[in-house]
Amino acid sequence: MHSPDAMGFIPFIHNYCDRRCERCRFVRQCRVGAVDVDDVGEAEGGTFPDTPEDLHQHLLKLMGITQEELDALETEQRLVPNPPSPEDQARAQARRDAWEQRRKALERRVHAHPLCRMGETYLDLVDAWIEKREEALKARGVQLHARTDMDIPAELRTPDMLVLGEALQEVLWFHTLIPAKLHRALMGRSDGEQDDDPVQNDWNGTAKVCVDAVDRSLTGWNTVVELLPEEADDALPMQELLRRIRQELNTEFPDADRFIRPGFDAHLGG
Ligand code: SF4
Repeated sequence: MHSPDAMGFIPFIHNYCDRRCERCRFVRQCRVGAVDVDDVGEAEGGTFPDTPEDLHQHLLKLMGITQEELDALETEQRLVPNPPSPEDQARAQARRDAWEQRRKALERRVHAHPLCRMGETYLDLVDAWIEKREEALKARGVQLHARTDMDIPAELRTPDMLVLGEALQEVLWFHTLIPAKLHRALMGRSDGEQDDDPVQNDWNGTAKVCVDAVDRSLTGWNTVVELLPEEADDALPMQELLRRIRQELNTEFPDADRFIRPGFDAHLGG
C-alpha cells in the first residue's frame, strides 16, 4: 500500500495526513500535495505549465488518467441509453429520498456524540483565546500563520518567538482539523459497510489522524504555557478538553493505532 502508482503517487495517502502540505515529506508523491504546491512540473525538473496544452497534460497526470481513458469516458457519457421511464425516475427519486433521510438521522446522532461536542467546544475555546491575543502576539514577533505574517521585523524574531510561533501554528492548524476529523470518523463508523475490514477502515484511519492531532496540540499548548506562563490558567480548559478527547478516542476507536496509513506508516508494514 505504500508503493507509488504508475504516475508516481501513493494512493489514498492524502486521506490520513495532517494536510500540512508545505512541510510534508510526501508532497511529490501525493496528488493533493502536488496540486497544493504546484509541484508536479518542478519535481520533474520542469516548470508549471503555461500553455493550455501543457496544463491539460498536467491535469491528466494529477487525475491519474491517460488521454485515451479520458476520450473513452467522454464517449461513454455521450452514448447515454434511452432516458429512464417515469416509473424508473420515481423509483430512483424514492431511493434518493430514503438515503437522504438516513443521512440526516445519522448526522443528528453523530452531532450529539460527546466526541463531536467536545471537538466543537475546543474549536470555540481556541478561537476565543486567540482572538483576544492575536494582535499582541504579532506585535511581539510571533508568526501565527505559516503562509502569512511574513512582515515581522527581524529583530523580533528571537528564538523564543520562533518556537512560540511554531507551537501556536500547530495549535491553530489542528483546532479546526480536530472537530472535522472527529465528525468524519464517527460518521464513517456509523455508516460503515459490513464488509469493511475491522481495523484497516476509513474511520480507524481518521481516528488515528485525530489522535496525532490531539497529541501534537497538547505538545503545542505545553510549549505555549512554558513560554507564556501568565497564560497557564487560561490554557488549562483547552488542555483538559484535549485530554478528555484523547481518552474518549481511545475508548471509541480502540483499534485506531493499528491502522496503517499509506506512506506514513511504512515502517509498520502493510
Ligand atoms: S499526504 Fe502530505 S502532501 Fe498529501 S495532502 Fe497530506 S500533507 Fe499534503
